Amino acid sequence: MRRQRDLRKQDFSPSVLDFGPVRFYVARHFGFCYGVENAIEISYRALEENPDKKVYLLSQMIHNQEVNQDLQSRGIQFIADTDGTQFIPWEKIAKDDVVIIPAFGTTIEIENLLLEKGVDVQQYNTTCPFVEKVWNRAGKLGQESHTIIIHGKPNHEETRATFSHSSGNAPSIVVKDMADAMQLGKYILAEKEFKNFEKEFFGKYSTGFDPQKHLQKVGVVNQTTMLATETQEIADYFRQLMVQRFGQENIKDHFADTRDTLCYATNDNQDATYQLLNLEADFAIVVGGYNSSNTSHIVELCERKFTTYFINSESEIKSKSKIHHFNYHQKQKKITNGFIPNKKPVNIILTSGASCPDTLVDRVMLRMVEFFEGAKPVSDVVREFDENIFAAGDNP
Ligand code: SF4
Repeated sequence: MRRQRDLRKQDFSPSVLDFGPVRFYVARHFGFCYGVENAIEISYRALEENPDKKVYLLSQMIHNQEVNQDLQSRGIQFIADTDGTQFIPWEKIAKDDVVIIPAFGTTIEIENLLLEKGVDVQQYNTTCPFVEKVWNRAGKLGQESHTIIIHGKPNHEETRATFSHSSGNAPSIVVKDMADAMQLGKYILAEKEFKNFEKEFFGKYSTGFDPQKHLQKVGVVNQTTMLATETQEIADYFRQLMVQRFGQENIKDHFADTRDTLCYATNDNQDATYQLLNLEADFAIVVGGYNSSNTSHIVELCERKFTTYFINSESEIKSKSKIHHFNYHQKQKKITNGFIPNKKPVNIILTSGASCPDTLVDRVMLRMVEFFEGAKPVSDVVREFDENIFAAGDNP
């Protein structure tokens, strides 16, 4: 309803679903993005169209356990894990097999390997156009003789794919965060001996990268799901270093002033999360896959204000007093007892990442509602919500 009335996406205020003793503040934008929906649709189509063939996915379709398990139960096999660990050796993949490229895209090396086997890599290529946009930006910067600095998680499929595409055109290097950027900055200012570079950035720079030569003219692109503010800080940091080294008057010859390459879904979800931070609530629940980059950034934002429980499904809510959740900083599951405060109403922030089906958010909400005696029926809450939207006119 709100989506239809706000096609130009000018309203980022949360939706309020008031069940009486419990109230949910749901982010204005959350859940499945275009790229994920497209990839899922193509994967199911690949299965339908090829009942007699082996159907493989290069790695997880998206970072969502339930979707991946469903695809596996229908016969899809994953060739590798998210971090590149091989499950099925390449020798087993044959010409007539179907290989789906996930929304993150893949590396040129893997694409070539499949092409050499005669596998059609385009028929079920689900690479998201917003990821391809990053590759195009990197390509353009490379043509203008910039070195490409990629802000991304070095082991993430998307960053590996972007790195592979960009290093074909230009010297490229990955920085995962501001701390990494600052270490690289020391080489730009020649504050660190170049002999340390190889060890410090091992596996993160392109073949033949020479820090003395290739850190004089740079441009920044990023993994589409990074935290917008962090990418901006990193780009500003490199800009300022170039001013320091080459002077403000020469900055255009040493730094590409471009916008970040985050995708629309990351921007919308993060902007909607900032709106949630203006509220007062008892805690936040963020739903999504534990290896999902975009979800972990939403968790990071929510944690700035609220006690935040990162869960991948309603089954993590064990009882009224116990929740299992994921601490992504420590990469560990945790158990919290007594997570619902003894007060009325309890106000809960609820949102999810781009790889999480909306139904999962519904299920989490319904699971929580079970714990509140006297909660209004869902149909009443939804009707009231719709009436409020209508009453608010064109600017809900
Ligand atoms: S999160 Fe963005 S880049 Fe990734 S699949 Fe979704 S729309 Fe595409």
